[in-house]
Amino acid sequence: MAELEFYGAAQTVTGSMHLLHLRDGVVSLDCGLFQGRREESRTRNSTFPLPPQELAGLLLSHAHIDHSGNIPGLVRQGFTSPVYTTAATCDLCDVMLADSAHIQEEDARYWNEKRARNASDRITPLYTLQDARAAAAIFHPVPYDTWQEFADRCSAQWIEAGHILGSACILVAIHQSRPMHLLFTGDLGRRHMPILRDPTCPLPRVDYLITECTYADRRHANPTDMKAQLVRIINETVQAGGKVIIPAFSVGRTQTAVYYLCQALAEKTLRPLPIFVDSPLSVQATEVFKKHPECYDAEARDFWFRQGDIFGTQQVRYITAVEESKAINELKEPCVVIASAGMCEAGRILHHLKNNVENEANTVVIIGYQAQHTLGRRIVERREELKIFGRMYKLLCRVEILNGFSAHADADDFARCLGPIASDLRAAFVVHGEGAQPAAMTDILKRAGCKTVHVPAPGDRFEL
Ligand SMILES: [Zn+2]
Repeated sequence: MAELEFYGAAQTVTGSMHLLHLRDGVVSLDCGLFQGRREESRTRNSTFPLPPQELAGLLLSHAHIDHSGNIPGLVRQGFTSPVYTTAATCDLCDVMLADSAHIQEEDARYWNEKRARNASDRITPLYTLQDARAAAAIFHPVPYDTWQEFADRCSAQWIEAGHILGSACILVAIHQSRPMHLLFTGDLGRRHMPILRDPTCPLPRVDYLITECTYADRRHANPTDMKAQLVRIINETVQAGGKVIIPAFSVGRTQTAVYYLCQALAEKTLRPLPIFVDSPLSVQATEVFKKHPECYDAEARDFWFRQGDIFGTQQVRYITAVEESKAINELKEPCVVIASAGMCEAGRILHHLKNNVENEANTVVIIGYQAQHTLGRRIVERREELKIFGRMYKLLCRVEILNGFSAHADADDFARCLGPIASDLRAAFVVHGEGAQPAAMTDILKRAGCKTVHVPAPGDRFEL
C-alpha cells in the first residue's frame, strides 16, 4: 500500500516537498527551500517531516532553489540516500546550492554581528558550503526517458518539462500490491521558448497526478519576437551613444539574453559591440548550459553545430573579478551589461544602475518578473528617483520592459498538456500555488473530465 503525504509547497509556492510512503521506506519528491519571513523560514527550513536519515531517496524535478534548495539542510541533518535527477540538474545544483550556502553563511554572519542581542541570540547557518559539497556527492544523474529503479519494485523516469535546463516531470511506476503510475509535474514550462525543448505534451496517462499551478489563473502575452525587440532596443541605444543595462537572473534569463545576442551577431542584425556578463554565478551557470547540449531544442542544436558555442563570440566577455567589473564603468563607448540580481535587490547590477540611470542616452531593459517592494519594480514603475546604496539617483535613462520571457506554463499550456489525460486520473493533487491559483487549476482539470481534485494542506495524507 502506498501513500502520499504533502509537506511543502502545499497551498503555498515555495519549499516544494512531497512524500511517497512505500512498502519499505519513504521517498521524497523535491526538497525546496521555504522562502518567506526570516523567523518562519528558519523554523520551517530546519524542520523535516521525518528524521532525514530515515528517507530512502529523493527524486528531484529541477534545480530552482524552491525545489532543490534544502537538500544541503537535509544532508546536514543526516540524509545520505541518493538524489536522482537529470545530469543537467545535477550540474546546475552543484553551482546553485554552493551559492545558496554562501548566502546562508553570510546571512548568519550578518545577524550575529549586527542583530544578535546576546550569545544565546546567535544563530548558525541553515547549512554551509561543506554541506552543499556533501549534498553534491549523493546526486545520481539519470538520462531523460529512462527508467531508474529507486526502491523495491518502484522506478521513475524524468521527462522533459521545458521549464529550465535539466527540468523534468517525474513519472513514477509502483509495482507493489497493485501496479500504479503517478506523475509529478515539478514546474511545467512553455512551448517555443529559446534554447530548451518544449514540455512533453500531452503528458503520459497515469492514475495520480501532482501538478503545480503557479500561473493557472493567467494567460501570458503571446511570446512576441523577443529577440527582435531586444536587438531593436540595443541598436537604438547604440545610435544614441548609450549603454544597455539588463538585470537578469543568473540561471535562465542571462543565458537566454546572451543566446539571442549571439544569434543576432551571427545574423548581422546587431553590429559588434562589447557584451559583458557580469556575475560569477551567471558565468558558472553558463558553463553548465554549454556542457548539456542534449537539453537543447532543434534550433539551438543547429546553431551549436554551426557556431560551436551558443553563448560566446568574440564580443561576449564573462566577468568574475571585481576589478574587471569596476572597469566596465570606465568604458565610454556603447556596450551591453547583463548582471544579477534579477530584481535589482543585490549584486553587481546595483553598481551598474547607479552609474547609468542618470544618463538619458542609456537604456535599462527589464526581462524578468519584478516583485513588489524591489528596486526592479520601482524601475518598472518609472519612479522619478531611485534609492541605491542609501543615495537617491534620478531615473533619467530609458526603461524598456520585455514581457514574454516567463518560464512557467499558463492556463492554456496546462489545458493542452493535462487536458488529454485528465479523465483517466483517479485523483489529481494541486500544489505550488496560492490565492486564486489552485481553484483555477481545479477548474481546468474538472472541465477536462477529472472527477477528483484535491488541494492538499501540509500534513494531509492520501492512500493511493
Ligand atoms: Zn522552477
